[in-house]
Amino acid sequence: MATINIALDGPSGAGKSTLARTIAANLGLVYIDTGALYRTVALYLMKNGIPPEDRERAAAALGGLSVRFAHADGVQHVFMNGEDVTDAIREHAVSAAASACSAHPEVRAFLLDLQREIARKENVIMDGRDIGTVVLPQAQIKIFLTADAEDRARRRYEELRLKGQQVEYEQVLADVKTRDYHDTHRETAPLREAADAIRVDTTGNTFGKSVQVLTDLIKERLACIMK
Ligand code: C5P
Repeated sequence: MATINIALDGPSGAGKSTLARTIAANLGLVYIDTGALYRTVALYLMKNGIPPEDRERAAAALGGLSVRFAHADGVQHVFMNGEDVTDAIREHAVSAAASACSAHPEVRAFLLDLQREIARKENVIMDGRDIGTVVLPQAQIKIFLTADAEDRARRRYEELRLKGQQVEYEQVLADVKTRDYHDTHRETAPLREAADAIRVDTTGNTFGKSVQVLTDLIKERLACIMK
């Protein structure tokens, strides 16, 4: 039987990862955070002194990189050539580099098979930017999650502050807007809503409310699919 694939796309900071993790745990699905893959490529380029914007050098460097996922107690770990970089890829500097290198078609092609292979084997809720449009166009459920830029920046700001990172709200908001621009204007797999996606706007929602809305929606769709 085909696995259940739920595609969850949307801009940075809409709450995709925390929501998807909770919903996956509640519904017994495997949560796949594809942003972690792009962050791993970015970290690898940074470690090798390659500017993430440099398409040619980035593409050439991919031959020396192996990216792998593993799940332990419901937590996704990501490995860069065998090294667990789960925490390292969350640094603020890696975000901008991930946004830059994710524009290169070679980088996207490099990560495509890995994402599809996981979805073929497991019942997943996969979060990203082009899951419903490019990676899993056959996904049974597609959700496009969004929220105002200010709302998303506030969440990201609080998250980074909690982690002890010294950032200013204005800077985080500017970064969110820059990333939105890059993610929606790149030539390869830009962030856009799949024609058959359900749009959910979480602006002003509490976390609990968004979990409820998404869980109800997914359960309802799954019930229709299982009929
Ligand atoms: O989701 P997250 O913010 O961790 O993603 C980091 C960057 O990776 C994003 O800014 C985006 O440019 C890129 N990305 C992507 N396609 C995905 C997931 C993430 O281009 N499926």
